[in-house]
Amino acid sequence: MIYCHPITAHLPRDSGLLSSMDDLGTLPEMEAASAGIPVANETEGAVPVKDASTIIDLHCHTAGIGAGGSGCFVSPSLRRNYRYRWFLRAFGVTEGEILRQGDGLVTERLSGRVGESRQVAAAVLLAMDGVVDGRGALDEGRTELYIPNRFLARECRRLPNLLFGASVNPLRPDALDRLDEAAADGALLLKWLPSIQGFDPADRRLVPFYRRLHELGLPLLTHTGNEESFTRTDNSLADPLRLRTALDEGVTVIAAHCASNGRNGGQRNLERLLPLLASYPNLYADISALTQANRLGHLQRVLRHTELHKRLLYGSDMPLIATGLTSPWFQLGRVPFAEARRLAAIVNPWDRDVELKRALGVTEEILGNGGRLLHLPPIPLPSKGSETAGMP
Ligand SMILES: [Zn+2]
Repeated sequence: MIYCHPITAHLPRDSGLLSSMDDLGTLPEMEAASAGIPVANETEGAVPVKDASTIIDLHCHTAGIGAGGSGCFVSPSLRRNYRYRWFLRAFGVTEGEILRQGDGLVTERLSGRVGESRQVAAAVLLAMDGVVDGRGALDEGRTELYIPNRFLARECRRLPNLLFGASVNPLRPDALDRLDEAAADGALLLKWLPSIQGFDPADRRLVPFYRRLHELGLPLLTHTGNEESFTRTDNSLADPLRLRTALDEGVTVIAAHCASNGRNGGQRNLERLLPLLASYPNLYADISALTQANRLGHLQRVLRHTELHKRLLYGSDMPLIATGLTSPWFQLGRVPFAEARRLAAIVNPWDRDVELKRALGVTEEILGNGGRLLHLPPIPLPSKGSETAGMP
């Protein structure tokens, strides 16, 4: 059953107010250990409901292969890669089901699982623009994954607990028109992955784009730090210091993953992000992917900076949270054994993620910041049955 929050009724859609699996790493064997989408042995209890503040997931991906006329695109090389089937499994679908029922099946399954969450009220679902060639057209040869805005806007209208996160490559000749269209279609933010989409956020040619973003009041959620989910990437383009051009234009920027891995200019990316957070009040960062097996300790490293908690935002990087890469068992030593066992038994991927992050020190303030930033009203979670699996 799909539960739909009445969230969109409150959104200021006409005001213009209205990311990753990034870095999945190379750890497919870890995924085998703990299932992302268990469905059996569900029992009541265990997860406390928090309805004092609304938790919005600002960083949720979907997938599509073009089935049902969605316009989505996965490159032949990515489709041959083991990650393709791995992602589909984390989304709870098979290729056969998508081919028969269309790409909307993935968004329906996502909406259903958000609806079942006792913690998260809604998720911002992210479009993914592609690489643009010298003439400004979509370069299918260099684009590995394409999820068009129009498809996502339609899906988010259909499934109200999914909120539209648009994506526009700023090198498109009609980038400003695309931005206006996305805003008119209810986009809550704009998502970039420059190291994959092939542009430099510090490029001065992007200034008019930043000015329009600022006028529309759309935050820019952009990947920072290394990226390893795709077969080709330029990690220098995800250097936090490249965000100064947008910040100087007054854009609200969200550094995805807190720049928590990789280096640029001989420095850790996080060390490059921290001074920026201190000097730009319009800069935020999301905590998605920070519990990933190959980023252990990163979340605590960020949380130590308590003065920044008001600028940290909750994101899941779904489908990452439905894979074994974020298993609570990797946090043994940071959480007690009994707590890891309790967390690992939580079936719903968002509930498991929120509870794990709480156990690692994420505060209610941080969990509530996203809804406030997007001007969403508090959404009380209805009392719903929770679920935990049997012992893992
Ligand atoms: Zn992401």
